[in-house]
Amino acid sequence: MAIKVGVIGLGNMGGGMAATLARKGFNVSGFDLSEAALSAAEAKGVKPVRDRAALISSVDILILSLPKAQHVEAVCLSAGGIIELGVEGLIVVDTTTSTPEASRRVAAQLKAKGIAFIDAPVSGGPKGAATGTMSMVIGAHEADLARAMPVLENMSGVRIHVGDVGAGNVAKIANNMLAACHLISTAEAISMAAHAGVDPTKLIEGLNAGSGRSGATQVMFPTWVLNKAYDSGFTMGLMRKDVGLAKDLSDAMDLDLPLSRKVAELWKDSSETLADDEDFCAIVQRTNAKLYGRGE
Ligand code: NAD
Repeated sequence: MAIKVGVIGLGNMGGGMAATLARKGFNVSGFDLSEAALSAAEAKGVKPVRDRAALISSVDILILSLPKAQHVEAVCLSAGGIIELGVEGLIVVDTTTSTPEASRRVAAQLKAKGIAFIDAPVSGGPKGAATGTMSMVIGAHEADLARAMPVLENMSGVRIHVGDVGAGNVAKIANNMLAACHLISTAEAISMAAHAGVDPTKLIEGLNAGSGRSGATQVMFPTWVLNKAYDSGFTMGLMRKDVGLAKDLSDAMDLDLPLSRKVAELWKDSSETLADDEDFCAIVQRTNAKLYGRGE
């Protein structure tokens, strides 16, 4: 019998994940608060379910792709949520970039009901979700991960099991702290080289052949910045959330990380000129508006 998969949150990432699994032959149902997201998923082979309770109580595995930890806690632990309606043996795979504390809290409460919870935040953007090539950093008990694997293998290209529940979000927060830093440091390097007479496209080629390369030089600048497309499908608001999560995590442990502190400050201050629905790559415009502005 085909595994019954439910997806809650059919946005830029969840919509692509649901469509990928439907294309690969899974029986996929989805729920979202947005009618537009439900219709878009339906057009890609996902059964839209408008009654969240009906979805939760009828699936073998439930994938969450929600904006923040607070949405995950609400969907999992509130009245009429997974804790009340999930069947015993259900596996919840949370792909939201959330917090380790929320993951551990939710996992502990669901476990008491015989429901497993895995945190498996992702990288690779909407394209990675829609093609099943994204990567996952996973926090899970071995046995739960083994049970979820037939579905995870079909929705991602790379899976790194980094530890027990919560560890996936620690790894994802560390990853996005670096990505947030690399976007700004690369913008500064390109701006410096442009002032010194080197063309940005040529510089990127040079950086990618050298030790300064990163996701910013290999993907973000060539795909979304230098062509001024700014259409990555990842918003400024969500990246500011992730940078805030990194600051909260290091502050909670009283760590002195001066560069990360400065990066967090730059992203926080960027709300003065960049709205939450802007593309996250637009942060580079604060380094050099003339070089990176859309109108140039
Ligand atoms: P999104 O805003 O496009 O999608 C989120 C969806 O969740 C929306 O359709 C919204 O209507 C729905 N939603 C919100 N609250 C809900 C609720 N209570 N019940 C049901 N649906 C609800 O966001 P996204 O870009 O898809 O990101 C989802 C998560 O993945 C975030 O945590 C983000 O940080 C992370 N992420 C995003 C990317 C990316 O490139 N977009 C990459 C990696 C990780």
